Amino acid sequence: MEQQTLGFIGLGRMGGPMSGRLLAAGHDVTVYDVSEAAIDRAVAQGAIRAASPKAVAAAADVVLTSLPTPQILKEIALGADGVAQGSRAKILLDVSTTGPSMAKTIAAGLAEHGKQWAECPVSGGIKGATEGTLALMVSCPNATFEIVQPIVANFGKVFHVGEEPGLGEVVKLANNMLAAAAIFLTAEAMAMGVKAGIDPRVMLDIINLSTGRNSASQDKFPRAVLPGTFDFGFATALSYKDVRMCVDESETLGVPMVGGALIRQILAITNSKYGPDSDFTCMAKLVEDWSGVEIRG
Ligand code: NAD
Repeated sequence: MEQQTLGFIGLGRMGGPMSGRLLAAGHDVTVYDVSEAAIDRAVAQGAIRAASPKAVAAAADVVLTSLPTPQILKEIALGADGVAQGSRAKILLDVSTTGPSMAKTIAAGLAEHGKQWAECPVSGGIKGATEGTLALMVSCPNATFEIVQPIVANFGKVFHVGEEPGLGEVVKLANNMLAAAAIFLTAEAMAMGVKAGIDPRVMLDIINLSTGRNSASQDKFPRAVLPGTFDFGFATALSYKDVRMCVDESETLGVPMVGGALIRQILAITNSKYGPDSDFTCMAKLVEDWSGVEIRG
């Protein structure tokens, strides 16, 4: 298939390495970010600088977005200087986590400009974005999928969840609620062990060979809690946004989400105590504070 000219808006923790992979694969990539430093990093890797989302969409066939919130995505997609106003682009391919209801709104707004929405929320963190080992949850019509599939295949394993806007987002929100819950519950279990006098490294090794193992015990605690660095790479504000959208969507569908609602409140507390820019592993710091022990090893 003919190589598509690409655009990339939002060159942060995820968008930086993902746009880097597209450049390394030989794509032309035109980029935009509010951060000049982020643009400079991409240009140093071979990207072309653009002055606005509209300018990106004037230069590229497919525009990817990796942005922090649904509202920012809406402005970038449908705002006065947005992708919808760009003459060339036919597809906006969002790799952020922006929720099912915004997916539907933006799909409808783009359609008014003769453009197609494709969503591809991702899981696997900065490491997965850098190494190309993300899980990719694509939702878009089959004809659009044929165009975006070879692009997103640069990022990891591709799943075509469905054709309707929002379906990939539902899977992503479910996953992120579970990932956040794992951090909180693992912190409670570990704090209990430490307070009883058990070496947290030994306790974690046992759990990771036992039925309680999970993504926090296997990855986040060894990398960001036991060393006391709390720097896994995902902001508390973003995790809070995801779990909030997850509980809202679940309630909209008539599915009670009692556990998820609890995690939403834990993230609300973490967000106000440690700040929106703190790492979401600070949920464990909260539990440490409550229990009067540190989970270090
Ligand atoms: P980030 O904050 O590191 O990056 C966001 C980028 O968007 C920044 O470079 C910022 O300058 C830019 N930006 C903000 N407002 C802008 C605007 N108006 N116009 C242009 N650029 C703008 O966030 P991130 O961790 O890379 O996450 C991006 C998205 O990916 C989020 O939706 C997040 O939920 C999702 N996500 C993150 C991870 C992770 O581990 N970090 C994993 C999976 C999914």
